[in-house]
Amino acid sequence: MSDLTERIKARIANEGPLSVAQYMAICLGDPEAGYYTTRDPFGRDGDFTTAPEISQMFGELVGAACVSAYEALGAPEQFNLVELGPGRGTLMADLLRVARLRPEFIKATRLNLVETSPHLRSLQLEKLAAAPLEPAFHNAFREVPDGPVILIANEFFDALPIHQFVRTADGWCERVVGLDQDDNLALGAGAAKLSDRDIPAAFKDSPEGTIFETQPAANAVAEEIGERLAKSGGAAIVIDYGYRKTAPGDTLQALFRHTHDDVLAHPGDADLTAHVNFEALAIAAAKGGAGVLPVLTQGEFLLRSGLLERAGSLGAGKSHAEQESIRDAVERLAGPDQMGSLFKVLALTGTKRSFHPFDSAV
Ligand code: SAH
Repeated sequence: MSDLTERIKARIANEGPLSVAQYMAICLGDPEAGYYTTRDPFGRDGDFTTAPEISQMFGELVGAACVSAYEALGAPEQFNLVELGPGRGTLMADLLRVARLRPEFIKATRLNLVETSPHLRSLQLEKLAAAPLEPAFHNAFREVPDGPVILIANEFFDALPIHQFVRTADGWCERVVGLDQDDNLALGAGAAKLSDRDIPAAFKDSPEGTIFETQPAANAVAEEIGERLAKSGGAAIVIDYGYRKTAPGDTLQALFRHTHDDVLAHPGDADLTAHVNFEALAIAAAKGGAGVLPVLTQGEFLLRSGLLERAGSLGAGKSHAEQESIRDAVERLAGPDQMGSLFKVLALTGTKRSFHPFDSAV
């Protein structure tokens, strides 16, 4: 049994059950044994592969959207380019390569990376060593210096803790991680309750066992981003897997070496994520003052951004095998049965003004 499992059990034995949110935060962020603290989880040897790791085209097209946002802002003399949870730094490296085509963009950029993992910070520095900008690191978005912001976040929000509530005969009880008779970790209904007020009317009469999720940590960040955009101007592009409309359902999942795993089986060694509620994020950002553009699927976003044209020019003059692998990447990124539909793209602005490729969506 891993050291982290032992520590979690000891804590539950002493202090009582943990909320799903506390459990998720410990598994991902424990300073010694947390999933992101200790490793590079990406790629074939890791547990999952993200879009920027599939193909350089992803970061390039996000970069093109950032340049459009910059133009829509009126090409400010200085702004903060911010990435939340940059992973290996691949997206940012690809983005900056495209942005260099607009030298004023690079000149105006102060690069800010919001990353809590020391291990990933060093990978990001390595990846950006050849970039024309030096990043400043922060532990949270609120530490980013004043001024306009162009922000991107790919698969960041899904890593923030969720609370789960389960419908029982006794109301909506917070789902907790406790210990069963054999001292194994077990999910159950805890004492804390969700008030009826916090459950959308449509789900009030859900059958027993129904699960309802909230993600206050994610909503708080979205609200802070909204406040900043309203105050100083800018835009944000949030990409993640998730759903457009609030709905009941258990979306907590563990991935261990590219396969689904029991969420309690490998604390700190498996990735734990939840699907993002884009409606809740949009409401929080609007509460902060941001303009919210209609949500696109990742497939729509990439195709409108010119994925097929980019794939064509990238493949021109290359070997048959290389062209095949570019075609394969297009399918993985934009295919409706792959990442194209499950992943959504939410764009926020300081004004109501849209920018490409979101403009045609209004
Ligand atoms: N955007 C990258 C990585 C996604 S994984 C990609 O697309 O490949 C999630 C990233 O968010 C990791 O870099 C992780 O260390 C970081 N992260 C997770 N929780 C965080 C938190 N609370 N604050 C800051 N960064 C966090």
